[in-house]
Amino acid sequence: MKKDLALTIITEVYDEIANHINEKNEDVDESEIIDFLHGIAQKLFTSSFHLPLDLHSQQMSFDDEYKTLASAGLSSYKNTNDIMESIRQTQCEIIEEANQKQLINEENISQRFKDIQHHMSSEISRANETITDLHKQLHSLERKARIDPLTKTFNRRSMDEYMNIKCNKNAHADHFHLLILDIDDFKKINDTFGHIAGDKVLIFLANIFKKTLRDGDPVFRYGGEEFVIILNRTDKEGALLAARRILEIVRNNKLLFKNRQMAITLSIGLAHCKEEDTPVSIIERADKALYEAKHMGKDQLQIAKD
Ligand code: GH3
Ligand code: MG
Ligand code: MG
Repeated sequence: MKKDLALTIITEVYDEIANHINEKNEDVDESEIIDFLHGIAQKLFTSSFHLPLDLHSQQMSFDDEYKTLASAGLSSYKNTNDIMESIRQTQCEIIEEANQKQLINEENISQRFKDIQHHMSSEISRANETITDLHKQLHSLERKARIDPLTKTFNRRSMDEYMNIKCNKNAHADHFHLLILDIDDFKKINDTFGHIAGDKVLIFLANIFKKTLRDGDPVFRYGGEEFVIILNRTDKEGALLAARRILEIVRNNKLLFKNRQMAITLSIGLAHCKEEDTPVSIIERADKALYEAKHMGKDQLQIAKD
């Protein structure tokens, strides 16, 4: 295990326990802490431990942001509740006072109730604003968790979710085609023009894919310089045309970096979805076709055998 990850886990566990103790008004039960640590140990030895390290830390920072947002929501909710409670108490006091004095000054009482109503409605609109704001933040956080920050295409996590849904037996009436696209000799582009130029190529290509494809055809960044595209609602001919169009546009592009032209080409593996396909099986076939395209000289498309 990487040292950083180990430290993150230990710090998180420490923070959780410290928070829990701080929140309690009474003494802490020893067995409760032992149970908590036991639960953490079990979690570590099951799912989270097997995640690749970078994914794990990405997941952690995402969870942290979620936690912050949730706790902001809860504390704002608690604040509103406290204010409402104090308003309720004031109302009780007014009624109590009026009862005790057995004398109701209508004007005075109605003014005080008006004040209370005013207070309540401004509190409610403040709470509504907070909710709208939190909603926006949540939406942008969810989006951030699905988007690759460099190319603004969907990320790998999003692709896994999407593929699981597509390959679900019940959704299979809707056939699709999967392309894996890999930049040819990208290492050479990085070596010749530098990493920043390489990053620009990735952004440039992602934009070409998005412009070339229909709205319902998602583009995912599958790995460093590999993309996956799902072509929906098209037949084999349509899928071939789309893939060839991408190859041609990329080949004929005139991307300049510091006044030097970069020649970029792609290789593509294309697989048609079969009834019994799983996310792994269809990607494996497309990957084999991609390997074939590289082997046959790159800048071309190969179709996976069904
Ligand atoms: P091939 O035609 O066989 O695909 O050769 P290649 O050089 O493209 O393939 P290889 O797998 O050898 O190298 C891929 C390179 O992609 C290596 C890595 O430095 C580069 N790369 C991966 N992710 C990024 C990135 O985010 N930015 C940049 N600039 N380069 C990246
Ligand atoms: Mg590659
Ligand atoms: Mg490559």
